[in-house]
Amino acid sequence: QAATPMLAETDPQAGALGYKADATKVDKAKFPKYAAGQLCNNCALYQGKAADAAGGCPLFAGKQIAGKGWCSAWAKKA
Ligand code: SF4
Repeated sequence: QAATPMLAETDPQAGALGYKADATKVDKAKFPKYAAGQLCNNCALYQGKAADAAGGCPLFAGKQIAGKGWCSAWAKKA
């Protein structure tokens, strides 16, 4: 079985949600809701463990998301 590919920022859905593999590169003019410290690995939707470099996300089925990434669907863990 092939390894799950990393989500590309050029993926249309990734672009629509402002996904960046490096959260510090988020377009803050376009996504003013972004706040420093928000990362995929502390997002409620992240399926990896907090320490994992990459993990799944239900918004991007079949892809791996960077733990240090971010998208505009970021949600605080309960
Ligand atoms: Fe990352 Fe959360 Fe967006 Fe998924 S929903 S890509 S885990 S910020």
